[in-house]
Amino acid sequence: MNLIFLGPPGAGKGTQAERIAERYQIAHISTGGMLRAEIRNATPLGAEAKAYIDKGALVPDSVIIGMVESRIQKEDCKNGFLLDGFPRTTAQADALAEITDVDAVVDIEVPFERLVARISGRRMCPGCGAAYHVTTHSAATCDKCGETLYQRDDDREETVQNRLVVYEEKTAPLIAYYRERGKLLTVNGDAEIDTVTDSIVKGLS
Ligand code: ADP
Ligand code: ADP
Ligand code: ZN
Repeated sequence: MNLIFLGPPGAGKGTQAERIAERYQIAHISTGGMLRAEIRNATPLGAEAKAYIDKGALVPDSVIIGMVESRIQKEDCKNGFLLDGFPRTTAQADALAEITDVDAVVDIEVPFERLVARISGRRMCPGCGAAYHVTTHSAATCDKCGETLYQRDDDREETVQNRLVVYEEKTAPLIAYYRERGKLLTVNGDAEIDTVTDSIVKGLS
């Protein structure tokens, strides 16, 4: 099973992807997570990507497409994969279609006015990439691996506004793109985390 999770920043893609990938035993591929790992490891790719990420802009298609192409060829993708945060442009979607088939695209819908609060309260684990929210998780460390949580630089309010504009311009057109191709599954992301997971599982089965 090959899945794509679509939705604006803060919709809950990462949170749901972790659960769904576990449930179906497929690889969870977060392009944002991969880029953050490149930055942490101080690679040339990380240095290039950081300039874009810090502005809330998209990393160029040429960079991202190559990265995803080699990632989905790895052994752990044999059962399938879940792409979290890719594709984000029509060019990326076209490139993906050349490489592999997609079974379903899950679009997680959340009212725009909710997103800023979700993003600005997000705290991430540098070890496993889990996301928490300050309103529901008061501990400073990750429940799963004990690492100290941090706030992403691009989750600051100035950058968030730009990311939302970029989403509307570049990524939202993919909703129609996948609807036309008969792949789109829309779920209400404005509900409890468990409820959203249930809707996704129901929609996929
Ligand atoms: P995305 O990967 O789409 O940017 P995340 O999964 O990182 O989104 O979630 C963004 C923030 O919102 C995190 O702080 C997360 O804990 C929180 N969150 C995720 N899903 C929900 C939900 N259904 N209700 C409330 N908060 C949520
Ligand atoms: P979120 O879904 O919360 O906005 P991500 O972790 O998916 O955040 O992405 C963080 C940043 O990484 C994006 O704002 C962008 O700069 C870069 N990025 C991630 N995936 C892509 C992609 N498919 N194409 C271009 N840039 C990407
Ligand atoms: Zn962790």
